[in-house]
Amino acid sequence: MSLLEDKTPKRTPISELGEFGLIEHLTKNISIQNASTIKGVGDDCAVIDSGDSFSLVTTDMLVEGVHFDLTYTPLKHLGYKSVVVNLSDIYAMNGVAKQITVSIALSNRFPLEAVEELYEGIHLACKNYNVDLIGGDTTSSTSGLCISITAIGEASKEDVAYRSGAKEHDLIVVSGDLGSAYLGLQILNREKQVFEANPSMQPELGNKDYILQRQLKPEARKDVVELLKSKTIVPSSMIDVSDGLSSEILHLCKNSNVGCAIYEDKLPIDFSAISTAEELNLNAATCALNGGEDYELLFTISQEHYENIKNDPNLTVIGHITDQSSGTVFVTKDDNHQPLTAQGWNSIS
Ligand code: ADP
Ligand code: MG
Repeated sequence: MSLLEDKTPKRTPISELGEFGLIEHLTKNISIQNASTIKGVGDDCAVIDSGDSFSLVTTDMLVEGVHFDLTYTPLKHLGYKSVVVNLSDIYAMNGVAKQITVSIALSNRFPLEAVEELYEGIHLACKNYNVDLIGGDTTSSTSGLCISITAIGEASKEDVAYRSGAKEHDLIVVSGDLGSAYLGLQILNREKQVFEANPSMQPELGNKDYILQRQLKPEARKDVVELLKSKTIVPSSMIDVSDGLSSEILHLCKNSNVGCAIYEDKLPIDFSAISTAEELNLNAATCALNGGEDYELLFTISQEHYENIKNDPNLTVIGHITDQSSGTVFVTKDDNHQPLTAQGWNSIS
């Protein structure tokens, strides 16, 4: 062995790849072996052929200190949210959620009553969304609380919506409103800092009910899947807004090999989010584009469906699909055309 040979094993920081780069790196050589695997890695759910229909499977993990802060997150809300974020991925395939499994790692600072509270939220979400809790795993953790949930759902073969089906000229539609969950988080963090500096201070949460609820107790849009079904609309593509509108639109466009134009003046933003953004000196449109955790559905539909959705208070057309060479464009209120990026902070704030 040469003295010059470098025996130090290579150590590439994961931050060099980022979350999506890492997933891509770890999964790029997977070859599907079973004919029943219709879709593997790369969408909101895996899709499995189960005969007459497709089964949908998705999993998400929530880690204390990364995804939630127990200083201001009630455990019941946390249990509820842990289920909802998983169900959201089932609805993002235009499917119906049926079962979940729940795995938890607990540190010894949790008494039984705390775990019971967490499960109250889990059971409530199962009841509200008509989902059965069918199993899981329980273990200990040397650091914080960890919750991993797998959701299983069903979609008919004709109805399933992937990230990859958007076509040029399709309309881009989003449910509900955007940016509120992020602004709710900013308020919670602000009040936490105030409290840490002066524990006798009372939190100033007046008029913030809606945005706090969007952060602490989000809902998944089961109703939107039902609404589309009642209108006999099958989206050409769909994704849920967990990381932020920009990031999700870029996923849709990349997977569908298309471009898009999104209009700032069309973004649905609740008035309480707008006033909170002003109060915090943030740009509300930037919060809507990059905030994340809204758990709304973002989808594309053929233009022929416009008349059928245009007056629905749950749905907003925010732009349209273009050809890939036109790029992914954000059109500001003053008609400035900017490239849509997953970190739009620098461009419009
Ligand atoms: P979502 O935000 O909808 O939950 P993610 O961005 O977490 O989706 O994941 C993107 C895709 O990568 C999904 O298909 C997911 O199943 C897959 N994935 C994520 N992490 C891993 C992993 N460690 N190994 C294999 N596949 C993964
Ligand atoms: Mg998703």
